[in-house]
Amino acid sequence: MPDRRKPTAQPSAVSHTSVGDVVVSVVNDGVFQLSFDDVVGAPRAAVEAAHGSQFRAVPPWLTVNTFLVRTPGRLVLVDTGFIGRTPLVGNLVPNLASVGVLPADIDAILMTHMHPDHEAGLTDAGGRAVFPRAELVVNEDELAFWQDDGALARAGEADKRHFGLARTALAAYQGRITAVADGVEPVSGIRLFATPGHTPGHSAWHIHSAGESMLIWGDVVHFPGVQLPIPDAGVVFDIDRAAAAATRKRVLDQVASDRIRVAGIHLDWPAFGRIVRRGEGYDFLPEVWQPAV
Ligand SMILES: [Zn+2]
Repeated sequence: MPDRRKPTAQPSAVSHTSVGDVVVSVVNDGVFQLSFDDVVGAPRAAVEAAHGSQFRAVPPWLTVNTFLVRTPGRLVLVDTGFIGRTPLVGNLVPNLASVGVLPADIDAILMTHMHPDHEAGLTDAGGRAVFPRAELVVNEDELAFWQDDGALARAGEADKRHFGLARTALAAYQGRITAVADGVEPVSGIRLFATPGHTPGHSAWHIHSAGESMLIWGDVVHFPGVQLPIPDAGVVFDIDRAAAAATRKRVLDQVASDRIRVAGIHLDWPAFGRIVRRGEGYDFLPEVWQPAV
């Protein structure tokens, strides 16, 4: 008998692709709602028109992805989702389990930055580490910023809360945190590509293997329907708005020129594709899903 009940949720959201000898799996953590009030640096009417022209939901939803990277030597996670913060997130661990990966299997976690929609999954409700063996790899500028009491004292209300959450996560991984600089390869075949502005040590991870490559970025783009056509548009969460916009334009220009494959934490799931120039801005061309990895 067919099951005639109306589905209320998607099947597990995992999709694999290969980059040379590496397999990259996008593992979705969920979605959460933001507002056009969170967009800065562009006229409100232009923001709503760009977003609306793509038939996107209003208010806008933000996708939260993480990426599982199976290198020949190590099992790596890029970011850990927004577990437990809003109702429609927190699917990382069950989605990993759906492809046979347990938290204890993860060897290293490479962070794009320490905002809660990226680091919340590092710890459980009691502040304990979710990943019992993983080395936590963070850009040295990012680590320094969230540990800086002066920066905490200068921070606004929302950022102060982010400091508390980031420090809880870092405390849970004390003794197994590795700070790395731009260009360093903490895992063979995965290099840190600095994208400062959104946070001081905001980072992308450049995977290269057997002549192929992919750039996994963090918050270069939050709202694909807005910030690709209008790269000047930023978000209120950008710690340095001018630097974040400059970085976005530099990265988009580079990946469009070099035709490099990209993946993004907040790109629409399954989030693998290429950036092309379109008018004054850019567009994302998603890769066609393939049954064979
Ligand atoms: Zn984010």
